[in-house]
Amino acid sequence: MHAILTFHSIDDKGSVISYSPDNFRLLLDVLEKQQIPVLDLDTLLAPGTRKGVAITFDDGMRSVYRNALPVLRDHNMPAHLFLTTDAVNSATPWPRDAADGHTFEMLNWDELAALQAGGISIECHTRTHPDMRTLTETQMQQECEQADELIGNHLGRRPRYFAYPFGYHNRKVRDFARPRYRGTVTTELRQLGDNMDSAALPRLDAYYLQSPRLIQNIDSLLLKGYLSARNILRNIKGSQCKADFD
Ligand SMILES: [Zn+2]
Repeated sequence: MHAILTFHSIDDKGSVISYSPDNFRLLLDVLEKQQIPVLDLDTLLAPGTRKGVAITFDDGMRSVYRNALPVLRDHNMPAHLFLTTDAVNSATPWPRDAADGHTFEMLNWDELAALQAGGISIECHTRTHPDMRTLTETQMQQECEQADELIGNHLGRRPRYFAYPFGYHNRKVRDFARPRYRGTVTTELRQLGDNMDSAALPRLDAYYLQSPRLIQNIDSLLLKGYLSARNILRNIKGSQCKADFD
């Protein structure tokens, strides 16, 4: 197995972007038991790495600090968090246009510093979470530069990786991201492969790994193409319910 995993919130709300704390702990236990290494993105994407997973969180929900950090520390595993900086300390519920009515408390800078100290690298997910395809070059530049600068100023480390808001990208957006970041991740449900575009790295969304049975069989399911089948289904149905939150 050679893949990047996507999470948003680690909680029991049952929303489309929630993943339960019990399943999160089980998944890390299973990865450890099956000797699938959990790596940081630099190591996972290095030439020669053929096996391993990276854990990523999108947006910046407080539950990552409350419910994921302690489990990651217990397992001594690294992770990355793609942060939307306008949502930090947000007093208003987030996301603002919650389709299913679920909103989330967001991280503050003290919690982000604690995450970084605990081995979770804080990466870029823009300042305001726009559809990048609709922006001019200057606007893209502002969205990323302002976010990167703020993160650098608060945490002393500028982001090296980027996640497209909603997973939306096109050639213009990829050409913008490629020279700016070591890697940019999408919401395409696939494992990593050879000769990948660093500006279009696929990820496996934990949304599709919600039952203990699936989690325990994660490695063999991937070999059998379980998640690529979900990708095809999602495309056929034209369902954007996930993408709207990504
Ligand atoms: Zn997002």
